[in-house]
Amino acid sequence: MNENTISQQLRKATEQLKKSGIENARLDAEVLLAYVLNKRRLALYVQSEKVLNEKELKRYHNLLKRRLERVPVAYLTGHKEFMGLNFAVTPDVLIPRPDTEILAQGVIEHLQSYKRALKLADLGTGSGAICISILKFVENVEVSAVDISKNALEIAEFNAEKFNVEDKIKFYEGNLFEPLKGQIFDVIVSNPPYISAKDFANLQLEVRDEPRIALDGGKDGLKFYRRIVADAPKFLSDEGFLAMELGFNHSEAVRQLIEENGNFKHVQIWKDLAGIERVIAAWKK
Ligand code: GLN
Repeated sequence: MNENTISQQLRKATEQLKKSGIENARLDAEVLLAYVLNKRRLALYVQSEKVLNEKELKRYHNLLKRRLERVPVAYLTGHKEFMGLNFAVTPDVLIPRPDTEILAQGVIEHLQSYKRALKLADLGTGSGAICISILKFVENVEVSAVDISKNALEIAEFNAEKFNVEDKIKFYEGNLFEPLKGQIFDVIVSNPPYISAKDFANLQLEVRDEPRIALDGGKDGLKFYRRIVADAPKFLSDEGFLAMELGFNHSEAVRQLIEENGNFKHVQIWKDLAGIERVIAAWKK
């Protein structure tokens, strides 16, 4: 039996990954091999008896070694799909999560009913996944995207060009609203860092490879919600709204921040398919 066929290599890799406690071992083995061969995953099944050459084997084994060190797959391939779009990612940005599609999708649905041009701010844009996918699905939107990390902004700019929306986005390096002074927005979106100090200790090993500034929400995980809720009313148009992703179990605390602020009239919680409260949206009074 040839050890170097696609099917044998996948079998071996899956076993290794599984043994080291990696959850989606088979999927990861396939994604990485498809990446090495520059093919879709389905092709691995169609051509399962194809024999890999030495160069391919070497590249595959190198990637597997790094995966066994718990480097996330998306950092190894440099890509992650979000809202059906293939975003470039590096360790300078948080890897877009499927959960965050609830935020992007919800905002898209709300914006599709507006007939006029809209201004949107994305605070802590990271890879740009949220605002770029909104731009791909809604016409007539103009975005201001902010990040405190210059390196993250480079990735977001790269993605904006990749998806041909660079003319609709202005990028700002800075801290939350700070570089947006004087501007008014119809929508403010954010997936702020929200992991609390306590939860940090229990994160999956992979997540610890991601930028800490994209994750660390301070002692109780609410640090950025406090600042965003406090400043958002000054930056929102009449009837404008704020939509933020929620950390695990944060919905009541953030709702309270919004209600106590006094400048919002109406709050919605958007749940994911598992019924988890993923997003809070609040309309300005
Ligand atoms: N959803 C991410 C995680 O659980 C956290 C993202 C964030 O802090 N905004 O790893």
